[in-house]
Amino acid sequence: MTPTISTLLYLVAAICFIMALRGLSSAATSRNGNLYGICGMVIAVLTTLLSPAITKYGGIIGGITLGGVIGTIIAKKIKMTALPQLVAAFHSLVGLAAVFVAGAALYNPKAFGIGAVDAIYTASLIEMSLGAIIGAITFSGSVIAFGKLQGLISGKPLMYKGQHIFNAVLGLGLVALIVFFALSQYHGIFWIMTVVSLVLGVLLILPIGGADMPVVISMLNSYSGWAAVGIGFTLNNHLLLITGALVGASGAILSYIMCKGMNRSIINVILGGFGTDSASASEAVSSAASDKPVKLSSAEDAAYMMSNASSVIIVPGYGMAVAQAQHSLREMGDFLKSQGVKVRYAIHPVAGRMPGHMNVLLAEANVPYDDVLELDDINSDFGTTDVAFVIGANDITNPAAKTNTASPIYGMPILDVEKAKTVFFVKRSLASGYAGVDNELFYRDNTMMVLGDAKKVCENLLKALKGSH
Ligand code: NDP
Repeated sequence: MTPTISTLLYLVAAICFIMALRGLSSAATSRNGNLYGICGMVIAVLTTLLSPAITKYGGIIGGITLGGVIGTIIAKKIKMTALPQLVAAFHSLVGLAAVFVAGAALYNPKAFGIGAVDAIYTASLIEMSLGAIIGAITFSGSVIAFGKLQGLISGKPLMYKGQHIFNAVLGLGLVALIVFFALSQYHGIFWIMTVVSLVLGVLLILPIGGADMPVVISMLNSYSGWAAVGIGFTLNNHLLLITGALVGASGAILSYIMCKGMNRSIINVILGGFGTDSASASEAVSSAASDKPVKLSSAEDAAYMMSNASSVIIVPGYGMAVAQAQHSLREMGDFLKSQGVKVRYAIHPVAGRMPGHMNVLLAEANVPYDDVLELDDINSDFGTTDVAFVIGANDITNPAAKTNTASPIYGMPILDVEKAKTVFFVKRSLASGYAGVDNELFYRDNTMMVLGDAKKVCENLLKALKGSH
């Protein structure tokens, strides 16, 4: 294949990736977005394989087959609620790949067209250093993020005195090492730089609390994109440059959207210290909650109230995802609609554990897109709604975000479910949500708690609805 044809095909692949990102911006077009992404990747891989620089295929085909089999098994087995840690694990591999490519270029510069051993071009040495540093930070940071999300490491922020100064010293040290490396080409400095970056990756992520981990994952996603840009420079590969920049920029934008959804600044997230262990949070809440009276209700009561309502807004959250209640919920919503009740779904930008989490689940259950409204579009309607049906959601409804300046979620926009005539909360207990804060709505006069697994409650509710007709 001639270089002109391969450049053209890489351009087509890059356009496919841009179309993929565009498609993924809405639930209605996300399937097409994925198809574009698959097409772009197939074109990119085939074009690379047909490059005249590749003479032996055994190792490549073996690697693709092994990776493909592992990827397929993981994709089939993974639960939606475990996606954030899976993404963290995958990012760690992108970071590691960047380190390996930079190392390979250092030991065999001729193969990369960047000079000879000990006579590598200065620009290439700097690109190589940046690729290795960002890659190593992404690798070790993602491993720690994975450990926190998987519960292997405490979700508590691990803070110590002077940590920001220490991290800044390491950062400045890395800049000095890049300069030494570019001047001396000494291989030892390259590896010292890599080890310091690995340590920095760990130290940057350890102080960040569990509640901020999804933002961190998105930031690491962005880093992995910039690491790919570093590899792209080393390999002189335009497609990697474009794709890396797309991933880097989109990850950064996603982090910004999440921070905006939680009303936090990105600096505040990076500096860490927010979020608690779920166990200790639950303990704190159960002791606080036990003294206050709550109104306990049942699926049958909720069925009665909702079938007599003229409008119902359903607010799904993380618990719906855990219980996989979306299908029973959709059946319940459809039944109410068939009885003339106006049913809509309200989506908070950070409901669940990643942006779009609820949209994906509701789309999977075939909830019509027109019934699913974002916070800004539906929040003013709660005041004229008969029933707010909050299923497995907690923090995103907590009025402490508006009133309690000491609360860790203060400033986060919330869904104003409290304004509805009646609020049903479906969850298993009075425990707190991810941010570890008590929700005073549980104790309000117009709130009814339906305690139980979200899916089971929806099934019982549907049974009761059907039984009464
Ligand atoms: P929360 O974590 O606040 O609450 C979820 C609730 O679901 C829990 O209180 C839990 O209560 C309940 N639950 C768990 N399992 C079940 C089950 N099987 N059946 C019924 N209920 C269940 O989730 P929200 O969606 O309200 O809020 C999202 C949180 O995640 C926010 O704090 C947000 O800031 C944070 N976050 C989200 C990001 C995103 O991009 N989406 C990014 C960063 C942070 P119980 O144990 O009593 O059942």
